Amino acid sequence: MSGEQGKKVISAIKGTKDILPSEVRLWQIAEATAREIFELYGYRELRAPVIEPTELFERGTGASSDIVTKEMYTFTDKGGRSITLRPEYTPSVVRAIIEHRLDLQPQPLRFYYIGPMFRYDRPQKGRYRQFHQIDIEVFGEKDPAIDAEILEMAHRLLSSLGVTGVFTLVNSVGCKKCRPAYGQKLREAALAVKEQLCPDCQRKSELNPLRIFDCKVESCRALAAGFPRITDFLCEECREHFKKFREYLDLYGISYRVEPTLVRGLDYYTKTAFEIVTEEAGAQNAICGGGRYDDMVREFGGPDLCGIGFAMGVERLLSVARIKVPERSFVYFAYLGEEAKKESLKLARNLRSEGIECLVEFKERKMKDHFSRANKLGAEWVLIVGEDELRKGKFQLKDMTKARQFEGSLIELASIIKGKKILETG
Ligand code: AMP
Repeated sequence: MSGEQGKKVISAIKGTKDILPSEVRLWQIAEATAREIFELYGYRELRAPVIEPTELFERGTGASSDIVTKEMYTFTDKGGRSITLRPEYTPSVVRAIIEHRLDLQPQPLRFYYIGPMFRYDRPQKGRYRQFHQIDIEVFGEKDPAIDAEILEMAHRLLSSLGVTGVFTLVNSVGCKKCRPAYGQKLREAALAVKEQLCPDCQRKSELNPLRIFDCKVESCRALAAGFPRITDFLCEECREHFKKFREYLDLYGISYRVEPTLVRGLDYYTKTAFEIVTEEAGAQNAICGGGRYDDMVREFGGPDLCGIGFAMGVERLLSVARIKVPERSFVYFAYLGEEAKKESLKLARNLRSEGIECLVEFKERKMKDHFSRANKLGAEWVLIVGEDELRKGKFQLKDMTKARQFEGSLIELASIIKGKKILETG
């Protein structure tokens, strides 16, 4: 019996997953498309650490939010500090702005980031413990035109990735001026039906009744649907902002529905809140969520800088995207003998410098076997390096997709390969 037997096999942590090469091209395309689009709107990437002080999220995301109360990956490091694996990105960007005085740069500031987030939630389809977000944030722009522009940008990304059948829900959650009066009415309404709410919502009805709208329990949702609506309590400024925001959405031709119960699971939103959801049935149908947070920077001790942003879940995005992955094109080397093998290694090195993917396998084969191997691997081209070719310095290049063959020097053949690539991909 081998000593290896009986050893425990280690698997990935529950709620996390490997993204294997068969799938990773989709990720790369989605990420590259997002970067390209965001840069078109003037966004620049800001990369913050994966770990942050726990306090950042307690203060930023909000002490009464589900994320902070139930879902954070928090641990004490060897220096006795409380550290958290970021559950969302916004507080990190706010911290970075204040830390590096980015507010001194011309505003608005536009940032994007793509990376993993961590939430200790119950894993299920579309919900993971390590998941990935495409995130954008804008600082220093009060005009509701930006609220609409980021939604237009989100829709551009979705349609570039072949996502159809989505719709947009919008709401205004008010501000510090109008929310307290609404909160009071909401608390009264929640307390009146307290006995019928789930234990979690009973607690929320005292602490932060707005959070009842996040509850996934069906009976709580039904009760919450009858609660007073924030849109009936907005102050003049918030009402005007919400009106203008919708006018700009109309301008872009983005259809939406006002959803007064949409408050989003985070404590910091002010005025605009929105979600893009898919029409697909199922609980996890939100692809993108975001909103305005005009007080967060100041509450972190920074300048008076308003903010707005969104986060798109990459796993959910890919589950509804229709992305065409371009065929890989590479040159397989069919050589005979040691000398031709060495020549192939050198030729491949030169072709790679021209940006052409090459595969030289080290196992000796007969010419016939080389061709069946090239076929099996899906090579687009086969470069034949035999004795004749070595002598002449001219090689045979076979186009496996079109059953045609060329003869020429390496430089000539390289331009044929590149020429076809340009023709096919534009
Ligand atoms: P949130 O930060 O909660 O507003 O989430 C923004 C987006 O991230 C959601 O619309 C989802 O697409 C995605 N998302 C949030 N939580 C998870 C999770 N646990 N697993 C996968 N995707 C998630």
